[in-house]
Amino acid sequence: MTYVVTEACIRCKLMDCVEVCPVDCFYEGENMLVIHPDECIDCGVCEPECPVEAIIPDSETVADRWLELNREYASAWPNITRKKPPPEDADEWRAVEGKVREILQPQSRRPLGYQRRRHNRSRPLCRAGMADVLVGLGIL
Ligand code: SF4
Ligand code: SF4
Repeated sequence: MTYVVTEACIRCKLMDCVEVCPVDCFYEGENMLVIHPDECIDCGVCEPECPVEAIIPDSETVADRWLELNREYASAWPNITRKKPPPEDADEWRAVEGKVREILQPQSRRPLGYQRRRHNRSRPLCRAGMADVLVGLGIL
């Protein structure tokens, strides 16, 4: 068994989790972190540290579609072992639902309270390959 990082981490990236992981198995992308499933020792200490409940065990049904994304990007992104400052707009994204669609298809979904001017759309928010993976996993 492993733990996986899910959608709630996107643009939140508070990184409390990396400080407690005993085997340093978190990897950092531009918008979120992932856990390497083959390196995670299933200790569970990171789960309660995440303030947005983005980390879940793969025994949960919803984890299935995130497991391969974690595996894919843990192999591509750099390892992270120390907490860094979160994105400046992390608080604005914290309660947003459907972050994947909001980021990858910004015109398709407008969460309650959405204000276009508050998000910098000119900045690339996602690596190109992530969209393909999400489509393949049925997340998009
Ligand atoms: S603590 Fe939660 S939201 Fe923050 S980086 Fe870790 S998984 Fe993502
Ligand atoms: S469950 Fe333990 S080993 Fe796995 S990512 Fe969390 S802290 Fe690291």
